[in-house]
Amino acid sequence: MRKQIVAGNWKMNNDLDASKSLVKKIAKGIKKEKLKKTRVIVAPTFVSLAKVADKAKGTKVEVAAQNMHFEKSGAFTGEISADMLKSVGVEIVILGHSERREYFGETDEILAKKVDTALANKMEVIFCFGEVLEDRKSENHFKVVESQIKNGLFHLEANAWKNIVLAYEPVWAIGTGETASPEQAQEMHAFIRKIVADKYNAEVAENVSILYGGSVKPSNAKEIFSKEDVDGGLIGGAALNADDFLALVKSF
Ligand code: PGA
Repeated sequence: MRKQIVAGNWKMNNDLDASKSLVKKIAKGIKKEKLKKTRVIVAPTFVSLAKVADKAKGTKVEVAAQNMHFEKSGAFTGEISADMLKSVGVEIVILGHSERREYFGETDEILAKKVDTALANKMEVIFCFGEVLEDRKSENHFKVVESQIKNGLFHLEANAWKNIVLAYEPVWAIGTGETASPEQAQEMHAFIRKIVADKYNAEVAENVSILYGGSVKPSNAKEIFSKEDVDGGLIGGAALNADDFLALVKSF
């Protein structure tokens, strides 16, 4: 059975002290309230990653990187490899976030290579995709999402999918305060599960967790997470406050 996941993407927020204090509060809250059934993941900046991973050791909180390069090592100024992430105890990576695609030129082709590198290093990938507002208005959103998933992931063997988590994040809902309605999220998630089933089989489709991201907050999470094909959330803004984030973890 697929897992429920709440993942916090801290983006370019929180210095080292703030990161350590936030992960500590989250881990403490989870322990205190015995929140066992949901996987909880946080993704700090690279600068804080090693320390946050140390703090998270032995707790229910898992730690992910926000990005990674596909090359093993070498002259790639400013980049971070899979080996480096693993050397600080990080085995999960977010790939394809819309901000990486939009501001840093990450194409489907680059992302497919990053996915391969992550999986070859036995890492788990949270693979993000989603349409921009124009695509939604012109009713191209299904086509866009299908092509992002196809180009980034459909070269994989079925059994590689046990290390894939999908994150549908309509770009028009990220950081805008505008959330997709629970029905819009469910409709897209069901579509995604169907294309995965068509490409692979029902088992792969049933087992893959599909997260929703885009202005999820304590006031709307319950309704979104209650939808059949929504298995949790990838959270930006509301992941920066321990109480809000813990409220999301409790929203199933
Ligand atoms: P948001 O960001 O929750 O601030 O909208 C979501 C994301 O980008 O993952």
